[in-house]
Amino acid sequence: MPIIDIHIHIQPLEQFRPQAMDLMRHRPDDADVVKYTTSPKEFLKFLDAAEIERAGLINYVSPDVIGFTPDVNDWIARYCSAEPRRLLAFGSVHPKYVADPAVEVERLKKIGIRGLKVHPSHQLFAPNDYRNGFGPLRAMYERAQGLGLPVMIHTGTSIFPGARNVYAQPMLADDVGIDFPELVVILAHGGRPLWMNEAFFLVRRHRNMYMDISGIPPQKLLEYFPRIEEIADKVLFGTDWPGPGVPAVRSNIDKFKTLPISASAQQKILYDNATRLFPVHA
Ligand SMILES: [Zn+2]
Repeated sequence: MPIIDIHIHIQPLEQFRPQAMDLMRHRPDDADVVKYTTSPKEFLKFLDAAEIERAGLINYVSPDVIGFTPDVNDWIARYCSAEPRRLLAFGSVHPKYVADPAVEVERLKKIGIRGLKVHPSHQLFAPNDYRNGFGPLRAMYERAQGLGLPVMIHTGTSIFPGARNVYAQPMLADDVGIDFPELVVILAHGGRPLWMNEAFFLVRRHRNMYMDISGIPPQKLLEYFPRIEEIADKVLFGTDWPGPGVPAVRSNIDKFKTLPISASAQQKILYDNATRLFPVHA
């Protein structure tokens, strides 16, 4: 069965602030992370070994907390251009750091970005702040909706220094589902480990709202989402590798497959849902 890991972090390591980098280093597979960051070819071999057909490579602009500048968009677009059928570039428009968010959304689509990441606790705004006068955020969602560009919103806690978890609650994205009903929204991490019930509710409530299970230890998945079969059409597999606390990609897949989840639901989560949202371009 083919597999899509919709949430892997291949990022320009040189942009990390030292404090943020401390959390990323000291991994046993540190050298691999560096190798894959500099070579899409090597990374594709890694995907082959893990039997992953396609991967979403998540990047976002976060000058204040992590250090990522708007250049991450061009960086990941260039990286994924090595094999665009298998590498899905996720970029972002930080509404505070761009002159015209709508124009930037269009530009990102043109350079090959397949989805936009919103990381409220690392970008320091709430996903619904457009209701409090943050107009550029509304402009970003509007244009993404118009262009059919999915938006992934980080939900759940973050331990990076300076991350503000008051923005990490899934329920803040309820407004986005109401105000942009045609926009495909993926709630990353399903609100783990504090707000899984909110994510479950939102995915059921909003027609175009999905979630990924990245960053959730597979052995915790059914404890966190005992009714996951009910939303099997709206759940995407992901690992969040090499994020803090995520040991390896392949072992996550193997553990996921041993869970008492029906074969048809597993197939939807591991592949079908993601390939429907991110079709392979001709
Ligand atoms: Zn992530």
